[in-house]
Amino acid sequence: MNSYDLIIVGAGASGIFAAITVKENCFNCSVLVIEKTSKALGKVKISGGGRCNVTHDPKKSLLLPEIYPRGSKEMRSPFSQFSFQDTVDWFASHGVKLKTESDGRIFPVTDSSQTIIDCFLNLCKNYEIKLQYSEEIINIKQEFNTFTLTSNQNNIYRSKFLILALGSINSTKTQAILNAIQVVYKPAIPSLFSFNIPSSPFEGLEGLSFDNVEICISQTKHKNNGPMIITHWGISGPAVLKLSAFAAIELHELQYEYEVKLNFLPEYSEAEIQKYLADKKQTEAKQLITNTKIHSLPTRLVKRIIELSSIESNQKWADLKKSEMYSLVQHLTQFKLRCSGKTTYKEEFVTAGGVDLKLVNMKTMECKTIPNLYFIGEMINVDGITGGFNFQNAWTTGFTSGVDIATKLNDNIT
Ligand SMILES: Cc1cc2nc3c(=O)[nH]c(=O)nc-3n(C[C@H](O)[C@H](O)[C@H](O)COP(=O)(O)OP(=O)(O)OC[C@H]3O[C@@H](n4cnc5c(N)ncnc54)[C@H](O)[C@@H]3O)c2cc1C
Repeated sequence: MNSYDLIIVGAGASGIFAAITVKENCFNCSVLVIEKTSKALGKVKISGGGRCNVTHDPKKSLLLPEIYPRGSKEMRSPFSQFSFQDTVDWFASHGVKLKTESDGRIFPVTDSSQTIIDCFLNLCKNYEIKLQYSEEIINIKQEFNTFTLTSNQNNIYRSKFLILALGSINSTKTQAILNAIQVVYKPAIPSLFSFNIPSSPFEGLEGLSFDNVEICISQTKHKNNGPMIITHWGISGPAVLKLSAFAAIELHELQYEYEVKLNFLPEYSEAEIQKYLADKKQTEAKQLITNTKIHSLPTRLVKRIIELSSIESNQKWADLKKSEMYSLVQHLTQFKLRCSGKTTYKEEFVTAGGVDLKLVNMKTMECKTIPNLYFIGEMINVDGITGGFNFQNAWTTGFTSGVDIATKLNDNIT
């Protein structure tokens, strides 16, 4: 009774997409998806602030090394089978209208993740994919080309093919399953987080945003340019999140105690800024420094930088000392901040780490050491920056594994 052609453990984005792909390519096969929680697609529901950022605009120049801090090289092969454009086409052909926002993120036109969930669950129903909820798989064995799965309710399930789509490897239970079948993995660590700055010099400036700040993590080689926002806890925005992803491993090693340097004027060299301020000393000699404009920087930030450079509020440009000028330039171009801890980015969060890609045939997502076992989605050592790239990993690897299994099943069935 409990035997299937394919069992998928995990009814998240990747598991459900793989199930649908298998059935679309091999309708007669039997597929069971086992999920430990009481519903499918829990993360899809809360994703993108409830709007689900499904992928990214394929018309933008999307270079995998700039998108996936881990796994970009290996992902070239699955992407050649299911790309950003394929995701857009897939949703169109399954009746989901999408829209592209100016920053390239793609959402359903309804602005509701429920649209994506409804689409997937209707397909599961139409294709007779069996969904088993509230049951956790705790042990896996392969004997005589058959997988035997044991659940926490002591039920036994058997299948010829098995896809593990367990999400982040952050629990000891998931680690125990992988250890038992001798699968090498890196335990999950956070990626995509904002930087915490206790006793921030920016207190009172919360909400100020910048189009282009260069952020450099002092103890590492990591730096990044882009939009940044001052928050109640520290700094966030696309430039910070991308940096958190690329520096995830180093920041974890530093136990999230580190220094960043901000350059508020990365478009100019230090010499150009010095000249710009020296010109002001001449042309605005009788003006108060505190009332000055510095390029297009917000005046509230400029006032704070002037205070922090120990320049008195009644000081005029003509009286600016060399040391004060130096301090001003340093604060504008190398503003030092002590960071401690991290804040989860609630719109999108992902973990780095996962099944070692050396163990995975990236053309199919099949395990190289255990035939007919597949790993997909966040549980492999691939993670992306914010913008729909993590779901893209789930669709791409779900599709790739699904096609391979369907092909093998068709070969056997027919
Ligand atoms: C708040 C938030 C917002 C996000 N927003 C976006 C976004 O807008 N765009 C984007 O691209 N990415 C987003 N992400 C990331 C994205 O959700 C993940 O990359 C994606 O869900 C991974 O899919 P998955 O199927 O690999 O894993 P998951 O979605 O985590 O699914 C794994 C499933 O396996 C189940 N499971 C685990 N172990 C067992 C077991 N032993 N037995 C049975 N079931 C088990 C889990 O309960 C879970 O349902 C967001 C993440 C978060 C947390």
